Amino acid sequence: MNQAVIEVSVVIPVWNEAQHLQQTLKTIAGFIWQSTKSFELIIVDDGSTDETWAELMVVCSEIPQVEGIRLSRNFGKERALCAGLEHAQGQAVIIMDGDLQHPPELIPQMIDYWRSNTAKIIECVKKRRGKESFGYGMGAKLFYWLIQKLTRYDLHGASDYKLLDRQVVEAWAIMPERITFFRGMTAWLGFSRVQIEFDVAPRIEGTTSWKFTTLVRLALHAVVTFTSWPLSFVSIIGMMFFVGSVILGIQTLYMKLMGVAVTGFTTVILLLLSMNSMIMLGIGILGEYIAAIYDEVKGRPRYIVSQKTRNVRSDENISDQ
Ligand code: UDP
Ligand code: MG
Repeated sequence: MNQAVIEVSVVIPVWNEAQHLQQTLKTIAGFIWQSTKSFELIIVDDGSTDETWAELMVVCSEIPQVEGIRLSRNFGKERALCAGLEHAQGQAVIIMDGDLQHPPELIPQMIDYWRSNTAKIIECVKKRRGKESFGYGMGAKLFYWLIQKLTRYDLHGASDYKLLDRQVVEAWAIMPERITFFRGMTAWLGFSRVQIEFDVAPRIEGTTSWKFTTLVRLALHAVVTFTSWPLSFVSIIGMMFFVGSVILGIQTLYMKLMGVAVTGFTTVILLLLSMNSMIMLGIGILGEYIAAIYDEVKGRPRYIVSQKTRNVRSDENISDQ
């Protein structure tokens, strides 16, 4: 169906959100409705195992602007976002979570900012992080601190709740990488941006779907895809150790030649341990980068669509692996 230009697309990745999907989407649609009648609400079902798709069908039949894309399995939020963004046709694209933790009240304000040409990217940043476990909060702090030190992008408080102008979406679309870290990518893209602060609301239902391991993977991907600094770090440490061992070697040799007995194995043991750990660390870091390169060169599609509620474009990513 090819209709006139759509003003705003709202992209929401969902995974096992059946319980509250209808209510959530109606609430969100209500807020968009306040600003524009020309919108589409693209819901990407990231391989849910509950009734999410069925619920989505119900909403689709009630609100014609809602459109569903179903991925063939759970690809993770990042990929689901990619799917949604690639399908979005609006002049501005808003991305947000499907659990009302991103307050939909901000949508009209975001659209106003965008209309008045304030900026190409309107970001909503977390003023206070919602209720979450101590470990999760600390983990997030550590992660953003690390990212800021390693790459100079300050992603503190960054969330995946933002509005992107068509121009930004087009620029994003030509970034070919498979391993995506959305927050980092939008920071890298540049463009003028404004920030709106918000408090993270408690999750409407259910618990966060992130597992510790997934978060660690996301953090690793963020570092690996955004900076090769850890690689240089290992080389620098390696060089320092080399200089150290040359000096120590000369000294040992000198002592030997002077006939002074070696006084113990302490140095040897310390050296062995530290060198070995450095080597292991180095190999580990290399491994991460090689894994990332491997994933990129495989060149697989980021996601596979299995079903759609309506045909938006013909050049779809429906292929088999
Ligand atoms: N989500 C997804 N695929 C996943 C995990 C999560 O599409 O594999 C969606 C989820 O349905 C929600 C959003 O991503 O709309 C954020 O997830 P969640 O609320 O679990 O994360 P948090 O708010 O704790 O960051
Ligand atoms: Mg959430």
